[in-house]
Amino acid sequence: MKPGIKDYNYEELLKIFTTMGEKEYRVKQLFNWLYEKNIDDFSLMTNFSKELRQTLADKYVLSPLTLEDHEISSIDATEKFLFRTEDNHFIESVLIKNEMSDEGRLTICISSQIGCQMGCKFCETAKIGFVRDLTTGEILDQICHVRRISGLKNNNIVFMGMGEPFMNYENVLKSADIMNYSFGFHLSVRKITISTCGILPVIERYIDEQRPYNLALSLNDTEAVKRIINMPIEKKYPFQAIAEMLNDKFPASRNRLTIEYVMRKDNISQDDARRLKKMFKYSRVKLNLIPLNPGKHTLPIPTQDEINAFVKELEIMNVPISIRKSMGSDISGACGQLSGKKYSNSGKKD
Ligand code: SF4
Repeated sequence: MKPGIKDYNYEELLKIFTTMGEKEYRVKQLFNWLYEKNIDDFSLMTNFSKELRQTLADKYVLSPLTLEDHEISSIDATEKFLFRTEDNHFIESVLIKNEMSDEGRLTICISSQIGCQMGCKFCETAKIGFVRDLTTGEILDQICHVRRISGLKNNNIVFMGMGEPFMNYENVLKSADIMNYSFGFHLSVRKITISTCGILPVIERYIDEQRPYNLALSLNDTEAVKRIINMPIEKKYPFQAIAEMLNDKFPASRNRLTIEYVMRKDNISQDDARRLKKMFKYSRVKLNLIPLNPGKHTLPIPTQDEINAFVKELEIMNVPISIRKSMGSDISGACGQLSGKKYSNSGKKD
């Protein structure tokens, strides 16, 4: 297989172009074609010579993903995209309208791995198991496709699709840096959020490296004994240790932190609210409450009254919260649901 042109950052493409005898400004032009103009064929790079266009086409893949399916929710206009990779696996991206961002802007939720090894009980991707990490180009190409199909130019990006981003740290961070380039997508660091289920040493590395993107921690329980059942990562990296590290390091970090909390019937008691209040220093931390998506799990779905009581309790204690709706419930809105349909119980694709 040929390498993907979108796998490379500026420094790497500069080396490649220099070796080919091309001038440095051509590299910025290339990024502009790939991400700003978002073209899908090397032949469209009209300010490049025919020879350069042909050389690039001979040596590199421009778009490593093929659109396999595209569904639009009739309830909330959420759009779900299913892509086929070159080695015939499936990943998903979701375009969410008016949700998941404070300002109600458009958000693209992207995948970082094919499948996932973290085994969260409420997650459809977990059922697929882990296949492999996505390349930098495969991460970026999701955005290219979604923008091209939807006509979007400006949006938030959240790494909340299939996979645990911090298990594919290098490619995730490299792709985020490329999204941030002024001669590409030019997305500000505040528009990019990386969500983790709690890989403690990698969160610490991320903060120590002063990476500037927003961080989200998927917490979902306030008692270790329950969290271990739903999120096996708790056994290796207890949330109390993560909270202590964050309370220690976060005030001095460049990041903003969101605590993601999927509300089940059995994790929204008054005691849960009190423990959440105690757990974090909330100066730069916000709690994001998400009602459990129905999906194919057996976890207990809370009633609206139960959710309201939990929210009220948190508000009384001045915990900063936002509430996200469960989106795209008619189109397999939770990541992994659409891909899961492509895999049989034995893990083989259709
Ligand atoms: S919720 Fe995220 S970390 Fe957990 S299994 Fe699903 S994709 Fe992996």
